[in-house]
Amino acid sequence: MRPETFFSGPGLDRADALRAAPEKIAELAKREDARELRWSDGLPAMDETGMLVWQEVCEPELFLGFDGEAPRFSPLADPAAMVFRVLPLIAQLDARDAPVFAGALSLARWHSRHRFCANCGHASDIVRGGWSRSCTRCSAEHYPRVDPVVIMLVEHDGHVLLGRQPHYPADRYSALAGFVEVGESIEDAVAREVKEEAGIDVRDVCYVASQPWPFPSSLMLGCRAAALSSELTIDTTELEDARWFTREEVGRGISGSPDAPFQPPPHTAIARTLLEDWLGLEAAQSRP
Ligand SMILES: [Zn+2]
Repeated sequence: MRPETFFSGPGLDRADALRAAPEKIAELAKREDARELRWSDGLPAMDETGMLVWQEVCEPELFLGFDGEAPRFSPLADPAAMVFRVLPLIAQLDARDAPVFAGALSLARWHSRHRFCANCGHASDIVRGGWSRSCTRCSAEHYPRVDPVVIMLVEHDGHVLLGRQPHYPADRYSALAGFVEVGESIEDAVAREVKEEAGIDVRDVCYVASQPWPFPSSLMLGCRAAALSSELTIDTTELEDARWFTREEVGRGISGSPDAPFQPPPHTAIARTLLEDWLGLEAAQSRP
């Protein structure tokens, strides 16, 4: 069974067919059951139970879709950019609301950074309920970006390769990752990133699960790959360290054992899901 990742899930009914009808979206915003996402300090606001906070419609600039029958909107907020400030906050987010949080955050941030046409430089207008922008001069249409990132567990002889970046919290080790480049398949990107960061060749790349990661607009493509050798040559411009961990060591890390050899990524990160899947555990989204 494919493991479930935080931020993924059905979320709202996106009602794509309505996006081409601005008058219908305007009518929806006037409905009594319409609500608008509240923002707080650059993020969709959460209550004390980790659920998103919805309020009366004031600025229905982005049409997020339907919750059941009820229309849901967001204002054009100016989202927070600092992922490491945000991560402790999203640990409180309820997994059921995480997909809506991710979509609203990525969409709002895209608008805040893409107000001008990339083709001619003129100002662009919000169209399709906020799911694209249209240039007022050259009519070019621009869509919210999605940036694919491969993130992979590399295995060798019962061990898994994890690395740490200099900005990680103390003792944190996580899966290697990197952006997919243009003209590159997922499999090629995995092989290139592992070679660049750890100096080893891999084969048998396979897809495990994916995750939208709204900081600002990544799509994490979780994979596994088999290493052809275990001798590492670490690229220290990317990684501070990389090591092989046994299944038993990963198990102690994931269970939070006092003698754990490393601190695993948080439950909101697909790297954690991949490690739990590798151990044969079912990912538990509610676990801290
Ligand atoms: Zn233009």
